[in-house]
Amino acid sequence: MEKTLQQQRYDLMGAKLVKNLTARRFKAIYVQTKEEAKEAALGFMKEGSSVSWGGSLTMKEIGLDEEIRKRNYRLIDRAKAKDKEEARKIMKEALTADYFIASANAISIEGEIFEIDGAANRISSIIFGAGEVIIIAGMNKVCPSLEEAEARAQNIAGPLNAIRLKKNTPCALNGNCSECISPDCICAVKAVIRLSMVPERIKVILVGEDLGL
Ligand code: SF4
Repeated sequence: MEKTLQQQRYDLMGAKLVKNLTARRFKAIYVQTKEEAKEAALGFMKEGSSVSWGGSLTMKEIGLDEEIRKRNYRLIDRAKAKDKEEARKIMKEALTADYFIASANAISIEGEIFEIDGAANRISSIIFGAGEVIIIAGMNKVCPSLEEAEARAQNIAGPLNAIRLKKNTPCALNGNCSECISPDCICAVKAVIRLSMVPERIKVILVGEDLGL
């Protein structure tokens, strides 16, 4: 089947972004489909290891959420927590997982990854805690500059996630970010990951499809 114009565009952007991420010492690959993305992620994670993840819609969309449950991994899953206290304990344990899976809220074409987070457990695992990090991102997350990546994270990913998570924030009511300081804010921490200081500790799987929020 002939590729759509958007797929052709994603292929072109993907090749450039892999080059830019690699220069920043990320392990970066571009795949065209969800299925390939799932296989690539599984290929990075040794069975028998501990695995945790941030609340990632992309992970579910590519079927990775389901697949890791069938394989021989020790899963650190905060959804299993009975209450807030236990969830916090599990989030702390996730900081030392062998592998942490997440998506990106946005990525600049220059190779800077932009993340927003409420409790900052996801960002903490990505930037320092976990042994290795696997970031899976649809090419719809790629922006022409860091400024536009921040704008995407804040004005698109933020409100959509706040609505999805039923947060009591202004953006969940009107669809726009007002840089709130609400107790339910999901953007308490913003992080730009410019480099993988430990070479290839952070792996980025770019997918030539629209995924996540
Ligand atoms: S309104 Fe608050 S929670 Fe919503 S995107 Fe803006 S800072 Fe984040």
